[in-house]
Amino acid sequence: MRVLIVEDELRMAENIARSLREGASYAVDIATDGEEGLYMAQSEPYDAVLLDLMLPRLDGLKLLKQLRHSKQHTPVLVLTAREEKESVVALLNAGADDYLTKPFDLGELLARTKALIRRGKGQASPVLTIGNLEINTSNRAVRRAGKNIPLTAMEYRVLEYLAHRPGAIVSKAELLEHLYDYNWEKFSNVIEVYISGLRRKLNDDSERQLIHTLRGQGYMLQ
Ligand code: CA
Repeated sequence: MRVLIVEDELRMAENIARSLREGASYAVDIATDGEEGLYMAQSEPYDAVLLDLMLPRLDGLKLLKQLRHSKQHTPVLVLTAREEKESVVALLNAGADDYLTKPFDLGELLARTKALIRRGKGQASPVLTIGNLEINTSNRAVRRAGKNIPLTAMEYRVLEYLAHRPGAIVSKAELLEHLYDYNWEKFSNVIEVYISGLRRKLNDDSERQLIHTLRGQGYMLQ
């Protein structure tokens, strides 16, 4: 999953980014003004946007309105200051999905972001189940047939993304767009490395593969 943080206080933005990377294995981009934020939100396929309200160049409410006007349905969580409380109704009416009042607890922000992404993908439970494979997105524990499977952070990122779309063909390009942040060099062959690592680790005694390769099209978890 890939999240955009639009926040002009860089230290705060970096703290949030670290928490999302370490606590959820998300790829994270930061925009430090409203115009840059709007541009990035419209040009990259984010799974969620965390949006500060008081921003230089374009404020959060205007950004949100323009984003929704351009038919972008990415879930948006707004970060408001206490004195901006009266604007919550306006924010929700403009298409915000959730909000948190500053100062907030990073653990709560992380949990809300996970819930928002989950809901955005049509998933209510934090545990994703595909056959005898179980992925607990709250603690990133993966089990197959009751057996714990330790994964690297990137293997988990790939698996969680595929697991949110079981039975669907996910192209390598889509994986690269959702698993890497803006500054990362994107090489499609690394995806193949993660997929083969996942295949090996997820293999159970039945030898039934969960991850299928559709030549020239992409991957499917089923
Ligand atoms: Ca601000």
